Amino acid sequence: MIRLINFDMNNQSQTESQQLRDQLQSLMDAARLNEKKWRRLDQFEKQLIATRTLPELIRLMLENYKTACETDVVTLVLCDPEYEIRRILERSQPDSDEIPGLVLLEKLPAHDAEPAPYLGPFDAEMERAIFDPWPDACHSMLLLPLMRQGELVGSLNMASSIAERFSADRSTDFVERLANIFSICLENALNHERLNLIGLTDPLTGIFNRRYLETRCQEEAANVRRYRTPLCAMFLDIDKFKRINDTHGHLIGDEVLRTVAGLIKSELRSNDVLARYGGEEFVVLLPQTGQHHACEIAERIRHTIASHPFRLNGPNESQVTISIGIAQVAEEPEGSDLEIAHKLFATADEALYLAKESGRNKVVSEHNRPASVAAKRSLIRMLGFGAA
Ligand code: GH3
Ligand code: MG
Ligand code: MG
Repeated sequence: MIRLINFDMNNQSQTESQQLRDQLQSLMDAARLNEKKWRRLDQFEKQLIATRTLPELIRLMLENYKTACETDVVTLVLCDPEYEIRRILERSQPDSDEIPGLVLLEKLPAHDAEPAPYLGPFDAEMERAIFDPWPDACHSMLLLPLMRQGELVGSLNMASSIAERFSADRSTDFVERLANIFSICLENALNHERLNLIGLTDPLTGIFNRRYLETRCQEEAANVRRYRTPLCAMFLDIDKFKRINDTHGHLIGDEVLRTVAGLIKSELRSNDVLARYGGEEFVVLLPQTGQHHACEIAERIRHTIASHPFRLNGPNESQVTISIGIAQVAEEPEGSDLEIAHKLFATADEALYLAKESGRNKVVSEHNRPASVAAKRSLIRMLGFGAA
């Protein structure tokens, strides 16, 4: 009897220890899996932190995170009420399309308390904008709120074809940590872009300033040499602007400058560069554009401004006009990039001078110099006054 009990006890303790071993094994498996997951996320976090620009950060999140997190779909919803993110992305990649998976919304759905992550079945009834394009055959999803300083700034969203991938009983510690780090990186990148912009843009009109233009013009001059593509510059100067200031005051003058900058911009392509050169002078750089086409664009700008109904004071409409000078970099330019840029600006400025001389509200290029002014200038040259 005693032997039987002993045998039973032996048997029982063997089963128990086997169970314990199994438990230990599965705990170790889970720990190893977690460690692997942690390493992968840690590596991904380091990549996020090392990223400098906003487009890079967003692309990294959308492209690499899918692999790092083993999920089928990742989208990023960001609140962009003043189109700031949109403008940064356009400026940094004028030729490329929208970033797949990035959804920019003017406002986010209202919420009372601080929103919590959602893990669970894929909800086909939810706001369609969250997943754009809408994923087919997804059975579970994770929506992670992105918070900054207590405010909801967007969400990081994942969907999977596997129903258990994002089940409600899963822990969200890893992903919540990642969402926090991403939110901080997002704010840093935005601040970085803002700082850059302050140094390169004109505060009154919001367009680029002279400093940016001069650097950019040298880059474009280098492209002319490397790829043999044409490059034109346009100098634009508002006619009799002083009179507008004197008659209506500086504040109205400022408003005219803002409107004119907007009207010029509306006639340009996204990779053209518009800058305020000084007071009421603007410069447009037209990469990959020959003089003939540049003249057509300039004529459109001139006409748009001349026909715009400016309301300077009270209900009456006033006309504001602009004079434009155009120049093109030679096909095989000589000198450094800086010298090429200087020559381009000097020639466009000279053409602008001729546009003013020949009556204002005019477009002048090297090919259509007004005859009377050209004759007068050559007479000046003949008489030996100056080199121009
Ligand atoms: P033109 O047709 O020959 O170009 O004549 P203009 O009156 O436009 O040229 P002028 O150079 O005589 O006058 C430019 C004026 O622009 C003088 C200056 O007070 C004004 N100005 C420069 N910067 C600003 C600014 O930021 N705001 C305002 N309101 N006026 C400005
Ligand atoms: Mg001027
Ligand atoms: Mg002027």
